[in-house]
Formats: sequence, C-alpha cells, structure tokens
Amino acid sequence: MAKGKMTAFEEVNWQFDRAAEQLAIPVEYRSILRNCYRELKVQITLRRDGGKLEEFFGYRVQHNGARGPYKGGIRYHPTVDLDEVRALASLMTWKTAVVNVPFGGAKGGINCDPRAMSEGEIQSLTRSFMRKIDMALGTYRDIPAPDLNTNAKMMAWMMDEYGRKHGYTPSIVTGKPVALGGSKGRESATGLGIFFVGRKACQDYGIALRGAKVVIQGSGNVGSWAAKYFHDGGAKVIAVADVDGAVRNDAGLDVPSLLKHLAEKRTVAGFPGGEAFSNAKIFSVPCDILIPAALNGVIHEENVGQIQTRLVLEGANNPIDPHADQSLFERKIPVVPDILANAGGVTVSYFEWTQNLQQYYWEEAEVQQKLEGVMNRAYSEVHEMAKARTVSLRTAAFMVAIQRVFEAVKLRGI
Ligand code: NAD
Repeated sequence: MAKGKMTAFEEVNWQFDRAAEQLAIPVEYRSILRNCYRELKVQITLRRDGGKLEEFFGYRVQHNGARGPYKGGIRYHPTVDLDEVRALASLMTWKTAVVNVPFGGAKGGINCDPRAMSEGEIQSLTRSFMRKIDMALGTYRDIPAPDLNTNAKMMAWMMDEYGRKHGYTPSIVTGKPVALGGSKGRESATGLGIFFVGRKACQDYGIALRGAKVVIQGSGNVGSWAAKYFHDGGAKVIAVADVDGAVRNDAGLDVPSLLKHLAEKRTVAGFPGGEAFSNAKIFSVPCDILIPAALNGVIHEENVGQIQTRLVLEGANNPIDPHADQSLFERKIPVVPDILANAGGVTVSYFEWTQNLQQYYWEEAEVQQKLEGVMNRAYSEVHEMAKARTVSLRTAAFMVAIQRVFEAVKLRGI
C-alpha cells in the first residue's frame, strides 16, 4: 500500500480493488464498478434568520443501480464534499449487496452545520435541496434516507416537498416518522443490526458477550441504540464519547440513565454516572468491543497503535483508513466492516419502502425478527468467505458484494 493520505473515495476503491483482485473480476469491469453513474452538485442559497444571505452546496451521487433503485442517506456536515459523497455512495452499493436487499448505492449531503442553524433555516434548506435534486429521485429511481445530522423530521419535510409536485409518495424517502409511513423499528435498526452481527462475531472470536467491555464513539442514533442493545445483551458499556465530551466508568455505565441524560442534553458530557475525559482519548480505552459510530476517517496511522480491543464493529461509515485497517489485520483484531455491521439501517429502510409500496404495515417485532435473519445470514456469508479465502472480514464482505453486483451488471448485458 502506498503511504500518504488517500481521499475517502480512493480509500473505498482501494478496498474494492483488493476484493476484485481476489475475485479475478475482468479489468474493464473494475472501472465500471468503481466509478459513479451520476453526480449532481447544486447551489443552495439561504436567507438566514438574521437577514444574511448564505450559499451552500448540496450533492447527490448515484454510484451503481444494477441491483435496484439507488438508495442512501443525506448528511449535513460542514466537511461534506463530492469526494466524500462518492465514497459513501459506493459503500452503499456494496452494503445493499452484502445484505442482499434489492437496491443500488447513492449518497447525498449539504456542506452546512445544522448545529448553528435554527429549525426554520434547516427546513428551508432541506426543502430547497429536495426541489433541486427532484429530477434524479423517484420511488423506483433513487430513495434518500437520514444520515449524519439528519433525522425523521427532515425526511418528513422531504416527502412533503416531493409530494407537492408529484402527489402523495411516502416511498420517496425512508426513515420517516412512523405517523407518516415510517417503519416501526427503523430508528433503532442500525444499532440493533450492529448488535446482531457483534453477537455472532463474539461467538466466532471467543468473546463472552456477558460482561464484555464495550467502548463507543458517537452518542447519536447509531451509538445510542448500540449502547442500549449491548447493555440489554449483558455487555458492559464502559465509555462513550461524542463531539462535546466523553464519559467512562470501568464498572459499566448505567446505560438507561445515560440515554435519559442524552435525551435531555443531546450529549454524554456532564453525565454524573462516570468520569469525564477527553473525547480524543476514546480509542485508547482498553475494551473487548470497540464501536466507532460517529465520523469517517477517525482511526488512522497516528492513533491505531493506541487501540486495545479484541473486536471492532464499524458503526460509522469508513471510520478506519486503509493503513490502520491493515495494522489491525496484522494484529489479528477482527474488524466487522461498515458495509456489513451498519447495514441494519438500510435493511429496515428496505422494509419501510416495501411497506409504503403495499400500504400495509408491520409490527416492530416482525421488523426486528426479519432484520435479525438478514443480519445473521449476511454475517455468516461474509465470515465463511473470510475463512475460505483467508482474507479479512472487510475484503470478504466486498467480495460477497462485488460478486452480486458484477452478476447483475453482466445479466443486464453491460
Ligand atoms: P448522528 O448525527 O445521530 O450522531 C453522530 C454522533 O457523532 C453524535 O453523537 C456526535 O456528537 C458524534 N460526533 C460528531 N463529531 C464527533 C467527534 N469529533 N468526536 C466524537 N464524536 C463525534 O449520526 P448517526 O446517524 O448516529 O450516524 C453516525 C455514523 O453512522 C455516520 O458515519 C453515519 O454515516 C453512520 N450510519 C448511520 C446510519 C443510520 O441509520 N443513522 C446507518 C448507517 C451508517
């Protein structure tokens, strides 16, 4: 591997190339499978509450649609750019293929900081973005969902904006509020999916789940639900970090109280049931299971050496750069990759989409039971591939996914 910083899209393609090589995918197809099909960049202007006019850029990238309509979240973050959105769109192609749901991969985002905006400003920005990418969307074309700093409320605005032009179309976005056609169990799905694959990985790698020490970066949708399910499953969540701080208790944090604190304060900072420490030190806390569930690129050459864990479950997308990934592989620390570990969200998004199309809704227990089946099967397929080919779980997951997408591309006569 060449040293030096790769872009996010180069990182994903580096992983892709390793798996494509293992599968001996013909070279002319590798480029087709690596690159994105359609890329949209739009200018969005916003009159701030104080009267100031501001400019933002929004993106929607469709990576590969051979297996079904494009599917992927929309993130709001100041660092969002085309390269990052391409990387995340590509990951969605491989993610939907690993869990074998009939979608392609897409991603979108706006380079804004919603924490510095009023709710009215966020709504205006969201509606304006939706109008500008409308032509690339559709129930059978491209279906957005929430991601970093976006949530069910914003999906409701997006559905409403799309409906003004096209009529009632709940299947145009997933991750909606249940009262507007969202699926029961969608909000918790990514965290629960991480728990399902984590439980299977613990069995395979000889880690007792009961009493296992869990460390989590991120206390948002993914991190908080993961904390809940690991706690309910008998593990000890000993440290959680977010953008505003970090809290640690080696005897195990009282997760129900922590979740109550989070619901009120939106951060773990100030939680009285543990010791506060610098969020920059989260990866140096010794544990059995480490779950990065915040941002991409957070584990890299400079901090990977601090990690003392027996298993990594990638809650966030692309949290580990290829150098750090290689170093963990050499240290024999298994990493359940993002395209498998956090695929519970898109799996229940698929369930939401099918419920919307049928206008027939399922109970939460049914959603969770079906999710468990999908995640367990996907994990087993990836683990089998890793064993059979003596590759990392990440390379194996890419291999399972690439095989499926490549077959679909070829069957379409491309
Ligand atoms: P979220 O906005 O609900 O939460 C993000 C969390 O990250 C917050 O707790 C925030 O404080 C924390 N964070 C931000 N910057 C940080 C920093 N510098 N240090 C420590 N913590 C920091 O987002 P989410 O939906 O939980 O998504 C988290 C990650 O999981 C993203 O990478 C997203 O792409 C990925 N993901 C989300 C879903 C989903 O269903 N929500 C599905 C798949 C993958």
